[in-house]
Amino acid sequence: MFRRQGSAAGTLEGGPSGGADALSLDGVTRTYRRGGPAALEPLRLTLPRGRFLAVMGPSGSGKSTLLQCAAGLDRPSAGTVRIGGVDLGSLKEAALTRLRRERVGFVFQAHNLVPSLSVAENVALPLLLGGEPDEGRVSLGLAEVGLGGRGDDRPTELSGGQQQRVAIARALVTRPEVVFADEPTGALDPVTAHGVLALLRQAVDQDGHTVVMVTHDPAAAAWADEALFLADGHVVTRLLQPDSAQVHAIMRNLGRPTA
Ligand code: ADP
Repeated sequence: MFRRQGSAAGTLEGGPSGGADALSLDGVTRTYRRGGPAALEPLRLTLPRGRFLAVMGPSGSGKSTLLQCAAGLDRPSAGTVRIGGVDLGSLKEAALTRLRRERVGFVFQAHNLVPSLSVAENVALPLLLGGEPDEGRVSLGLAEVGLGGRGDDRPTELSGGQQQRVAIARALVTRPEVVFADEPTGALDPVTAHGVLALLRQAVDQDGHTVVMVTHDPAAAAWADEALFLADGHVVTRLLQPDSAQVHAIMRNLGRPTA
């Protein structure tokens, strides 16, 4: 097992952040219907660089809402989200789109690779969209996820776990402030999942990346530095250096199936 504690200082290059936290949420709420219940109660959360956070909770507890607001995919009803010190609420749509492309990485359960592009082209996509293709960075990224020789292959020639590794390389290629991973191991068998989680852990420990991972799996959460548990839109508890037995017990106490 990898060392759990993330490095204190990140080593990300560039970006607008200076010494700012990778992610901070202050008083963030989300209500979908006027007068309706809050999907997210006022939430305060600060993640320095080089941290790995797992977000857990029963279905409907607000995990996706939190992730979408924190990643700039949705606008909170109130409160402030900062990525690398930049207040997302101050950005117009075009600037927000650019920030998402350049400063945020995404890994989903379904890896969303483009089947008609090669593995290397998939990884290069965020750089191409930003107008700065960099073959060296793509090769390095593929080597880091253990797929150094597979750049010319099509995604369909790779196993599910390898495809998720490509998705991770793609998420990291811009050296983002934060990587948001939504059930990244949800479609993988335990052994393959282990490899993918080790890779995320490595990105945090070796390269100072910051990862926010939504998961229902206590074994996955045990790779994080901290697990945050939501129920009905609020934080029930937080666990530092979580282990899967503790996480299991808390989820059981929350009393509803996870999803
Ligand atoms: P989780 O990811 O933990 O399953 P969600 O964040 O998806 O939870 O949902 C939290 C609450 O917000 C739920 O009650 C859900 O029904 C509601 N909700 C989520 N998205 C929407 C939406 N687009 N419109 C209205 N209600 C929503």
